[in-house]
Amino acid sequence: MKPKYARVIVDRAIQRELDYLIPETFADRIEIGWRVRVPFRDKAALATVVAILEESDASGIRPIEAIVGEGAALSPKLIELARWMSAYYCCSIETVMRSLLPQVIRRAEVSWKKQLFVHPGAGLSADALEKLRKRAPRQADLLQAVGQLSGPVPAADLLRQTSLDNQTLRALAKRGLIELREEAVQRDPHADEQFVATTNLELNAEQTAALAVVEESLADSAGARPILLHGVTGSGKTEIYLQAIRFTLARGKTAIVLVPEISLTPQTVERFKSRFSEAADMVAVLHSRLSEGERHDEWHKIQSGRARIVIGARSAIFAPLENLGLIVVDEEHETSYKQEEAPRYQARDVAVVRGKLENCVVLLGTATPSLETYYNATRGKYRLVNLTLRVDGNQMPLIRIVDLRQEKRKAKSLTILGEKLHTAILARLEKREQTILFLNRRGFSTSLLCSACGEARECPNCSVALTFHRTASRLNCHLCGHTAAVPKKCPACGEDALIYSGFGTEKVEANVQQLFPKAVVRRMDADSMTRKDAFRETLRAFRGGKIDILVGTQMIAKGLHFPNVTLVGIINADLALHLPDFRAGERTFQLLTQVAGRAGRGETPGEVFVQTFTPFSPSIQFARHHDFVGYFEQELEFRERCDFPPFTHAVLLTVRSAHEARAKFSAETLARRLREALPKEFILSDPAPAPLEKLQGQFRYHILLRGEAIMRLSRLVRSTLDKLPMPEDVLASVDVDPYQLL
Ligand code: ADP
Ligand code: ZN
Repeated sequence: MKPKYARVIVDRAIQRELDYLIPETFADRIEIGWRVRVPFRDKAALATVVAILEESDASGIRPIEAIVGEGAALSPKLIELARWMSAYYCCSIETVMRSLLPQVIRRAEVSWKKQLFVHPGAGLSADALEKLRKRAPRQADLLQAVGQLSGPVPAADLLRQTSLDNQTLRALAKRGLIELREEAVQRDPHADEQFVATTNLELNAEQTAALAVVEESLADSAGARPILLHGVTGSGKTEIYLQAIRFTLARGKTAIVLVPEISLTPQTVERFKSRFSEAADMVAVLHSRLSEGERHDEWHKIQSGRARIVIGARSAIFAPLENLGLIVVDEEHETSYKQEEAPRYQARDVAVVRGKLENCVVLLGTATPSLETYYNATRGKYRLVNLTLRVDGNQMPLIRIVDLRQEKRKAKSLTILGEKLHTAILARLEKREQTILFLNRRGFSTSLLCSACGEARECPNCSVALTFHRTASRLNCHLCGHTAAVPKKCPACGEDALIYSGFGTEKVEANVQQLFPKAVVRRMDADSMTRKDAFRETLRAFRGGKIDILVGTQMIAKGLHFPNVTLVGIINADLALHLPDFRAGERTFQLLTQVAGRAGRGETPGEVFVQTFTPFSPSIQFARHHDFVGYFEQELEFRERCDFPPFTHAVLLTVRSAHEARAKFSAETLARRLREALPKEFILSDPAPAPLEKLQGQFRYHILLRGEAIMRLSRLVRSTLDKLPMPEDVLASVDVDPYQLL
């Protein structure tokens, strides 16, 4: 037989693919996507096979040592997707591969959990059983219990039920009366939950029309355009996903559902597991809170074809499902779909590309589309489907703007709750209705200032003020986690003149509790939700009416349904608006709309108070009138005028070093090289200190590039960087389509 070669990508950042000889012993087995162990330099390395070759012109070819795992870990389409990501996101293929395969699969160190099972044997006649009973009564009891089983059971369960011991079990096995076998069992994160089967709801007219569009695409998906499902909060988008998946399964295909990590709650999982409860393994769930073992098992459930629906956060877009028919991206506008470390990919955009490669339908759902997505829809690149009505027939909540400038004048100082919001909460407490108060900032006081010398307590590693947390009684940096004791006197000038200023959720909670002493007030943010079940418990208590006022960060802004919430207060709508970010307005619009969507989901219409110092900013005014299209049009005009996305693609280069001068020098050199390499069609900004100049002890410089031909721009950036070796203590990173401009 002619020798064959495998081209592999090793799990090391070498930016090169290598050829190995396939030994005859597994010549017919290895295929594209399989994991193998190969000799690499003077050690062994794990690698993924990306091509099978008849010949190779590499010299000194060595043979593959072993196969790792069974079957293809990645399909050829996923490998193609990896190559696209590497080119588009300007990062090495090895880095991309690291995201495609969970670490537990790559390393192949964790395996199935083994458990001892009892298999019933032929049994004994009544006579023989009586004889056994005389000699060994306990063995006879156990055998009798086994005789009543219909199939194998875990030995531990059997022993627990019969209160018998392991020795008895072994004795029976030795006599050949039962069989004991080690078998793999699944670690199912949802094993102890019961899912009550649900069936398709009867759709209203808008939903019916929307589903028809999706089904039409599913029926003929070759070249189908992605679909944007733009539906107001509570318009029944999830029901459409569920029915579209049912349709997909009926055609013998599979589906991925992406949801933002934060909304991957037990409730969400339950809706999918309950609807597709026909087989226990039907729905696999992937998220960051799984144990390694659970992730291993869920992944294999998908790879083996037992799971046909995958619901998960960002990286679930790489789930190794065969025969993919539908990808749903819920809350497509969510910035958490963007990974903030290399590979810095956007899962929604990757979903669209995977959809194209696999000829499957991509369904993007949201109440507040991102500018990019809606722009694609208006230009016909995506199909647009609208849901304008809430399923329950409720009106959209009434949004009232509270001008904090006036409130401040009235109250002489900055209060947390303006008079109007205060009155509104009182009314809710009297009617026993619930209130949500939203503030996008944790902690108690956002800075500790000295009134004598003016110094604020800054993080020693980052250029931000430290936040005071009262419960912990510490000063914390929200960026690097640095924590410090609270000084009694100003460490700079020694005066006893420290004052706390600015406020976060912790102070809102304290303030509200003080104003309404009889109300039950709870806080939900990253500080108060550190215990594993705290999130679920707080939500349950809130749903059960045991909490009157819930104070929180974006944790409470997303997809939660509470019929008894009739009031939502946004404590300060301006927080995002002051960021040096071209998406600041868009984020504010989205946040206001999403938070407002939490109000009035039951019989009583909801009311929303938005406190702001900039009552006339477009994002606030359009959100108030529930006018997405109006907002989109004016924002789009601004983006076009400034050459921002969606009219261009942006690429953000960050150069950082612990030495400020070196970071600056390298950034300037890099910018000069780029200016030489880039044609005029690309816009290159001068290197400048990043808005967040110092982060985790590193000084940071930014270079922002913009242009339409993103693949070309990425390629030029890559080759420029490759030709310009940075000093050892300077790092450059590339972020294509960045979301974090700090
Ligand atoms: P969205 O995802 O758009 O916010 P959901 O799909 O969560 O909305 O729907 C909101 C609520 O309405 C859910 O409780 C859902 O079960 C219910 N619902 C959705 N569609 C229908 C329908 N056609 N008839 C009755 N109830 C529905
Ligand atoms: Zn810090």
